Amino acid sequence: MNNIITAKFGGTSLASASQIRKAAEIIKANPSRKYLVASAPGKRFSDDIKITDLLYTCYAQCKTGDDKNFSATLEKISDRYAEIIKELEIDFDLEAETKTLEKNLLASKTPDYAASRGEYINSKIIAKFLAWDFVDAAEIIFFKDNGTLNESKTFKTAGEKLKNLSHAVVPGFYGSLPDGSIKTFSRGGSDVTGSIVARSVEADLYENWTDVSGMLSADPRIVKDPEVINYITYTELRELSYMGASVLHEDAVFPVRKAGIPINIRNTNRPEDKGTLISASRPADAPHKAVTGIAGRKGFSSIRVEKSMMNSETGFGAKLLYIFSRNGIPFEHCPTGIDTISVFVSSSLFDEKREIILREIKNELAPDFITIEKNLAAVAVVGEGMVSANGMAARVFSALAKAGINIRMIDQGSDELNIIVGINESDYENSIRALYNEMILK
Ligand code: ADP
Ligand code: ASP
Ligand code: MG
Repeated sequence: MNNIITAKFGGTSLASASQIRKAAEIIKANPSRKYLVASAPGKRFSDDIKITDLLYTCYAQCKTGDDKNFSATLEKISDRYAEIIKELEIDFDLEAETKTLEKNLLASKTPDYAASRGEYINSKIIAKFLAWDFVDAAEIIFFKDNGTLNESKTFKTAGEKLKNLSHAVVPGFYGSLPDGSIKTFSRGGSDVTGSIVARSVEADLYENWTDVSGMLSADPRIVKDPEVINYITYTELRELSYMGASVLHEDAVFPVRKAGIPINIRNTNRPEDKGTLISASRPADAPHKAVTGIAGRKGFSSIRVEKSMMNSETGFGAKLLYIFSRNGIPFEHCPTGIDTISVFVSSSLFDEKREIILREIKNELAPDFITIEKNLAAVAVVGEGMVSANGMAARVFSALAKAGINIRMIDQGSDELNIIVGINESDYENSIRALYNEMILK
């Protein structure tokens, strides 16, 4: 035990001075909480705007020369920080920060730079409030020129720098490229920063403080009061977050998983709740269900290619998938029949390349028919216990049939960790509810 906890607080947990005070109480309650990773201020109420979104807007207005709105948005951003600073009763030079931001935006910095200032300024404010050191993520988190994380350099530099400090606040969401410019992770990426910091300082635990009492067995915006998952493995979590359970960024699992550091998802507004513990395996005495959780995403298209005698044409599937891959479109699922093969892809990616891909399929594969279906969703039922349980697929299909939902695609991973069904987007919410009632509640 190193007695080190890295605590990441999300946007809603730091959206106002009163939320920041709650986070500070949590930090003080356990002296092992030595490193805090902060998000930008998020929403205080449902139609509030996240600082990150305001910053992207501000960047766009600056870029298009919309001076009036640019100044107004910049003021909105600055006003939110001003309110936090005033209520926290700290001495902070916000004017200097705002001026630097304005100057750099006008000097045409990138959208990544603009967005990163949300966590940068918030972390400086929090460091001041806690009287902790502030460490700029640009100095400890490094990307390669191709945009992937330079893991060895990052873990070494961040570890050396942070372990020398008794306490530090690190802004989430960004790092730097080899030329020193700022690069962000994808949205929600402060979760990844938290994981990188936990790994670098060899923490015993990575706490992820948010606005729900853990990973829930279904999306709370669709199912009312879904059960909290007390224990979940890294593998299950990865499946659920990849499939759409948005509580934790899908890449946040990797840095800590390699080092075996558990993640604990906790609720800033209910610190007494134990939350969800994510580790390599469940404790032996934890109650065990076959299905751990259900998640899904909308926005898929299916491209179905039909050609008689396809089965005797070697390499047909490989050639088809190669057309997608060389156009930069990863495929999600690829169910096959004897003379048909379908490729399930993200609609937004496909739409951009639609004409090229269809032309290439026609020219290179000479199919009899190509059918495109849009507005599809994928829903995954995930659980390591499904391998040893009988009749899981039958239960999934009959629950959907009873709810009157037409299944458009079925895919069961070879490790039997999940069953994924493709459905119409209009059936999405009903499918999640039907599967929750059958697979989790029963
Ligand atoms: P933060 O700002 O703390 O990073 P996020 O908004 O990124 O928080 O993630 C928390 C939100 O994720 C919850 O408020 C909830 O609405 C949503 N969510 C979606 N699916 C799930 C799930 N399966 N379990 C818990 N939360 C979920
Ligand atoms: N502030 C960033 C976002 O809104 C990153 C994060 O909150 O994790 O996406
Ligand atoms: Mg988040």
